[in-house]
Amino acid sequence: MIRLLKSKILMAAATALVLALNCAAQTSGTTQEVSPDPRIAAALQQISAKQIQANIEKLVGFGTRSTLSAQDAASIAAGHGIGAAREWIKAEFERYSKDCGGCLEIKTDAFTQEPADRIPQAIELTNVYAVLKGTDATDAKRIVLVTGHYDSRNSDTFDIRADAPGANDDASGTAVSLECARVLSKLKFPATIIFLTVAGEEQGLNGSHHYSQMAKDQNWQIEAVLNNDIVGGDKSAEQDHSVVRVFSEGVPAAATEQDLRRIRGLGGESDSGSRQIARYVADIGRTYDVGVKPLLIFRLDRYLRGGDHYSFNQLGFPAVRFTEFREDFHHQHQNVRAENGIEYSDVPKFVDYDYVSHVARLNAATLASLASAPAPPANVHLLTKDLDNDSTLTWDASPGGLAAEYELLWRATTSPEWEHVQKCGSTTRITVHLSKDNVIFAIRAVDHAGHRSLPVVPVPER
Ligand SMILES: [Zn+2]
Repeated sequence: MIRLLKSKILMAAATALVLALNCAAQTSGTTQEVSPDPRIAAALQQISAKQIQANIEKLVGFGTRSTLSAQDAASIAAGHGIGAAREWIKAEFERYSKDCGGCLEIKTDAFTQEPADRIPQAIELTNVYAVLKGTDATDAKRIVLVTGHYDSRNSDTFDIRADAPGANDDASGTAVSLECARVLSKLKFPATIIFLTVAGEEQGLNGSHHYSQMAKDQNWQIEAVLNNDIVGGDKSAEQDHSVVRVFSEGVPAAATEQDLRRIRGLGGESDSGSRQIARYVADIGRTYDVGVKPLLIFRLDRYLRGGDHYSFNQLGFPAVRFTEFREDFHHQHQNVRAENGIEYSDVPKFVDYDYVSHVARLNAATLASLASAPAPPANVHLLTKDLDNDSTLTWDASPGGLAAEYELLWRATTSPEWEHVQKCGSTTRITVHLSKDNVIFAIRAVDHAGHRSLPVVPVPER
């Protein structure tokens, strides 16, 4: 035991020596030592459980938000059906924009959804979103996006008559998008933030599928998608209100054959872009006191379930899903009723609004941090030409002018999260006395104020 410790200390000393030769400035530590941005911390205080409650109750008030429900003018005027919900979300985004001098661009992505499994006849489907355009000409092309689905369903996914309150699933996620928009629109960021609410989730992810395809066709640079679906913190006995789950895919759905060969050979199963977002969220949860801790779940989604993040994943966009710790399935996809002493329904009284506000804070802190940060460094390579127990990484400077320095991260191959960070200064090459065979590396960019980009795991270069 003592000998092991001694050798560890010697190794650390040797590491420090080699690093000293390569880095302009160095400190070694964990990735957790990031100090909060006071501007972001202050904004988080503006997130209101009361506002979230009002929004969820308003959405429930439309009776049903089934994607198949009414969208005609009379129903909209009567405040019933998905059309009325859509118009209200639009108006709400417009109200926030008015409060920030027109800083938000309110848009719709409307299209005809052809018949499919749960779509009996062609229907008009509309995603509603607000764009907070980045202030930097170059970095404005970079996009971080938060989404929730505003459609709902009851026991029968084709039933458009009976109420489908969908308070938790997913007025809660819609409320997160709305509240992030209301609060973050008061700030400015170099990169662009999109606040999205989609329809068609319950009928087969139709809205997010169309939206992500549009993003791909138009070459949008989406760096991260945060999907909030069932973040109401259902008040069941075994709920843990201190935790929110963050689901992320391991092997990317969009991996090419070449990607898969590398992943198989070198152990890249836990280093998708989505997983880097999940780790970033974990860091944010330690940096900001948001009231809820992210619990990383290293799988795409829950058993038998799916969500809108997958539409983005399928097209190669990194995306994660936030969901409460413990779902009560009596309170999802149910007609409002009581049977054998059990209350079935997804109604507001089961939603914990403080919990939703904590999840909204975690989302807002993540969006604001990513939108403040430099672009991730490009073309990150790990040189593997010669057999060598040292490791050399090279990269191109982070696109845009925000990066002040770079950091090398590494972790044991068996570790879920980054364990070590080493400052590299403004150099774009580093050699460390660590065997590439024993750890996983990544490089991230940092601006003058300490905002970190998403880390990029190197590809081997011979
Ligand atoms: Zn849902």
